[in-house]
Amino acid sequence: MGRRKISNSRIREIADTRMRTLHSLACREVSAGDRERGRRYIHIARRIGMRTRTPMPREARYCKSCLSPMVPGVNCRIRLRHGRVGINCLDCGNIRRMPYIKEKGANDREVCD
Ligand SMILES: [Zn+2]
Repeated sequence: MGRRKISNSRIREIADTRMRTLHSLACREVSAGDRERGRRYIHIARRIGMRTRTPMPREARYCKSCLSPMVPGVNCRIRLRHGRVGINCLDCGNIRRMPYIKEKGANDREVCD
């Protein structure tokens, strides 16, 4: 009796849901002041993404360098300038920029300073 076979799209669907849940938990922790736990949730979400080859949901923003979930007004600043979004992580100082017109797939083209 092996494992029941489920389709890849179903696996990604489940992974996507879990990643969203973990990200919102992470944001809650960061808002409550527990940044360490917030980072841990993001770490877990990323691992799920890697294992299932599922990209992080676009709305689930986190800092690529310190893995903090980004909560505007709490640990990150968002600036719109020259048709781009600049997201400044206040935990580690990392700045990411991306065009905000074509946001889809922007994760791959992000500029990290
Ligand atoms: Zn950071």
